[in-house]
Amino acid sequence: NQLYGVDRWSNDYFGLNSNGLVTARTLNAEVPLMDIVKGMAERDLQMPVVLRIENILDAQLFRLNEAFRTAIEGSGYQGVYRGVYPIKVNQQAQVVEEIAAFGARYQHGFEVGSKPEMIAALATLEDTGSLIICNGYKDQEFFDLGLNAIKLGFKCFFVIETPAELPILIERSRILGVKPSIGVRVKMTTQVSGHWNSTSGDRSVFGLTTNQLIHVVDTLKQEEMLDCLQLLHCHLGSQIPNIRDIRNGIVEACRYYTDLVNEGAALSHIDLGGGLAVDYTGSRGNDEQSRNYSLEEYCLDLVETIKNTLDISQIPHPTIVTESGRATVAYSSVLLFNILDINHFEPSEITVATAKEPIQLQELRAVLEDLKPGHEQECFNDAHYFRNEVRELFKRGQVSLRNRATADNLFLAILHQIADMVDDMEQVPTELEGLKLSLADIYYGNFSLFQSLPDIWAIDQLFPIMPIHRLEEEPTRQAVLADITCDCDGKIDRFINPQQGYNKTLPLHPMSEGEEYYLGVFLVGAYQETLGDLHNLFGDTNVVSVRINRDGSFDFVKEIHGDTIADVLTYVEYQPKELQLRYRNTAENAVREGRITARERQQIMQTFNASLQGYTYYEKEDN
Ligand code: PLP
Repeated sequence: NQLYGVDRWSNDYFGLNSNGLVTARTLNAEVPLMDIVKGMAERDLQMPVVLRIENILDAQLFRLNEAFRTAIEGSGYQGVYRGVYPIKVNQQAQVVEEIAAFGARYQHGFEVGSKPEMIAALATLEDTGSLIICNGYKDQEFFDLGLNAIKLGFKCFFVIETPAELPILIERSRILGVKPSIGVRVKMTTQVSGHWNSTSGDRSVFGLTTNQLIHVVDTLKQEEMLDCLQLLHCHLGSQIPNIRDIRNGIVEACRYYTDLVNEGAALSHIDLGGGLAVDYTGSRGNDEQSRNYSLEEYCLDLVETIKNTLDISQIPHPTIVTESGRATVAYSSVLLFNILDINHFEPSEITVATAKEPIQLQELRAVLEDLKPGHEQECFNDAHYFRNEVRELFKRGQVSLRNRATADNLFLAILHQIADMVDDMEQVPTELEGLKLSLADIYYGNFSLFQSLPDIWAIDQLFPIMPIHRLEEEPTRQAVLADITCDCDGKIDRFINPQQGYNKTLPLHPMSEGEEYYLGVFLVGAYQETLGDLHNLFGDTNVVSVRINRDGSFDFVKEIHGDTIADVLTYVEYQPKELQLRYRNTAENAVREGRITARERQQIMQTFNASLQGYTYYEKEDN
């Protein structure tokens, strides 16, 4: 627990049991993830797999809505809370459907930023009383979808992001005979810390400037539609680590709200966008991938700040809307994968010196023998010097391959001994700081970083990563992870450190021949599936949704097989049938030229065709 910080980042959804297994915890039940992995294997659902735990999504919606309810009741706030889930954060149908189902009891709605998201929302929402907040650049078709939805009884708000949208909305609402509910997105000047802060500030590409806002108000006045202006929208950024930034932003939003009410707008909703952070590192606010506040504190701060600011001007308390995406879905997905292979950077046995060994090799042996505390840097320098000399001599043909291999091995042995001594040094010289990392094992995982964890590659995001079994044993190896793309960026060498910063290696267990070893990457439900790409043509992974029952049993409620090879080839415009035909012609030519028999051709084509239907990831032979 201590080593991987489970208690600090898991939000109580994951833990360890006494058998050294990671468990999913919900409804007072505890299910080892390895039991689910076993069930997957029985159903031929191969690794890698995105495991979705429905109950966690359900629980997060419960916690968010209940935290707002408690904050509202406790502070005497007169309005209510209505959450919306931004579909872009994870648009997968099962996720959106689950949110619609679990959120119905709170009338939890959707935020949409495009026509496809709008269509998904309209066809999925179970309760027309839930809100649909339409953000993004909207054309006539987008407005028509929303206006028709209003006719059907949906509470659909059109948030004006640019002045060009307003005339289209006015015209379409007249033509379709629907009174629209309009929102305005304001450009916030409050700057927030964190990765995604460019959504706020003067240069933000989103929202109306104050002059554009006045223009919208004046236009609506002229058109006698100011009573349609019912919502104020702002979004300070995603994953806001510092609660003080959020509070400052709300005060600014409330000032806009007050003056728009004074202008005659019929505002009734204040939408504060996303930003509720996830404590990915478990550091409780010590870094940007964490947060220095709890969910309860977030809700209370929002409610009290709005109340206190608006009370000054005696403005009725609006319905509070937030668009929490990350915090809603991050916890419910875990990426599971198996380790395929390990590359150790360990010296093999040191061979006895031969009579005619080059002097440089003898020197390396002497460095290894004489190595003692206080001389680490000196020995490090000597080892490099003589190892490099041997390499030069090898290039010139003056040293044999065997001698070079001995030199490389001696060098590695020296580095390992120095790395062990570094721990006891009071001051570690800069050159020796990265030594341990350079000697760490490489564990090859059956996943694609680009498909399943794109934010690690793109923005140095940290996710909790750990073995999901064998935790009763001490993990004695230090490792970095490599994926199965052949891209040198396809690696993970930054791991969470709940105390401070990040670790460059991950403690893992040694593996013996034929043994399966499974790792989980946690908190990956937000943005990762959406942003993943087809690098090296590794496709979507298998996805399994489970529901945990009170008695500790669990059901496989949904399973989606990942992309086949034919699927991914089709995405990049190949026609599998055409590929089969071409390969068949090549094979037939080989028969004609006598290189293979007709029967062999048959087998070759069978393998080719079976591969087209296969999984894009590493598959075990017996399957
Ligand atoms: N709302 C808007 C307008 C956004 O741009 C975003 C994401 O950046 C969100 C909501 C979701 O934010 P988060 O995932 O931090 O809750």
